[in-house]
Amino acid sequence: MILKQLPAIFKPARPVLQRIEAAGFEAYFVGGCVRDTILGDHIHDIDIATSAYPSEIKAIFKRTVDTGIEHGTVMILDHGTGYETTTFRTESGYQDYRRPDSVTFVRSLAEDLKRRDFTINALALRENGEVVDLFHGLDDLKRHLIRAVGDPNERFHEDALRMMRAVRFAAKLDFVIDQPTLNGIRQNAPLLSKIAVERIRVEFEKLLLGKNPVAGLKDFVATGLYRYCPGLQGAHDVLSKLLVLNQWALENPVQVWTMLCVQLNLSGQAVTRFLKQWKNSNNLIRQVKQTLPVVAALRAHHLTALDLYRAGWERTVDANQVAKLYGWNVAVSKLRTAYKKLPIKSHQELAVDGRTLIKAGIKPGPQLGTILRWLTQAVVAGQLVNTRLALLTAAKEYKKEE
Ligand code: ATP
Ligand code: MG
Repeated sequence: MILKQLPAIFKPARPVLQRIEAAGFEAYFVGGCVRDTILGDHIHDIDIATSAYPSEIKAIFKRTVDTGIEHGTVMILDHGTGYETTTFRTESGYQDYRRPDSVTFVRSLAEDLKRRDFTINALALRENGEVVDLFHGLDDLKRHLIRAVGDPNERFHEDALRMMRAVRFAAKLDFVIDQPTLNGIRQNAPLLSKIAVERIRVEFEKLLLGKNPVAGLKDFVATGLYRYCPGLQGAHDVLSKLLVLNQWALENPVQVWTMLCVQLNLSGQAVTRFLKQWKNSNNLIRQVKQTLPVVAALRAHHLTALDLYRAGWERTVDANQVAKLYGWNVAVSKLRTAYKKLPIKSHQELAVDGRTLIKAGIKPGPQLGTILRWLTQAVVAGQLVNTRLALLTAAKEYKKEE
């Protein structure tokens, strides 16, 4: 197969491949960028594989950066753009089910493609548009099939993360996992517990952000992979209920993790525990905790100004997107109008601050915080006008009532 016209992203990279070839080596575009080109999908980055060793690449190009030299990866800098180039390699060992014990540089493209996970990811593309397809990857692309390169059992034994990658590609592309490959996953699912949670998380997020999450989720559940994921060991029924939802349009990790907390019916400390088990960042945990109350309010058809104020606009949008999955969402225009109507959007906009209150005779201490919070809530709810005079008067009244 020859591709007549390559997407624009390849254009500036072609001269780089031509120079490697002119020096007597082979060079190809490989992996996801080839797959996505043939599918007509968006390409986010390009990977180059070559028969030249890192030292040989560095002799050809003046400006390079050793980005992963021990794996054979060198970045070539050309007209301000960096191109990651990796020497053909084979991997061996895999005694711990996750990383090869050693990588060996080789001169053969076939050897390099053989170590790749799925046939649709084992295509290579020459700079002239010629596709190299040694494992019927093109047929599988046409048939929408995720199929392991070689024996699935062996391949998942070598690297258990590939099982998560299979379900994530099924979701990302809305493809089906080939039966023997699926059997391989079912058989080896327990090996997933050998893989670092952070790496599983990356794949799980991509699954839920895919074109058709259900296409991946159903096999994530059916093969038992979920049992080896943090906090999901007993979640068969809860996860199965996701399979009947059809309004999937999650857009970012905050929405993904909020949805999971909603689905698992988590609240309070259980939210933090679950998100920490998955090694999520403190920032993400904070954002999910801001989003969850808005989802709950949408669910109860009782979204208040204070909910919007506390969450802020971005988290409100995240909440509405999660709510959409369950049919609890409202029109974004309605949300926007309500948000714009908020008398203040942050505590900085409050007409008084702690210092002003102290000057007006309120003692510093815990009560000061309580008064400020109360004033904020009253302003947000429209019960007090946001002027210095009104707020100072109200603060003094509040003190008297204490
Ligand atoms: P994406 O669009 O999500 O980046 P991708 O196919 O480019 O998809 P990467 O994780 O970037 O996926 O990996 C690049 C390529 O490296 C894959 O297409 C595949 O050929 C190979 N690869 C990546 N991870 C593995 C693995 N665990 N086992 C075997 N091959 C892998
Ligand atoms: Mg990639």
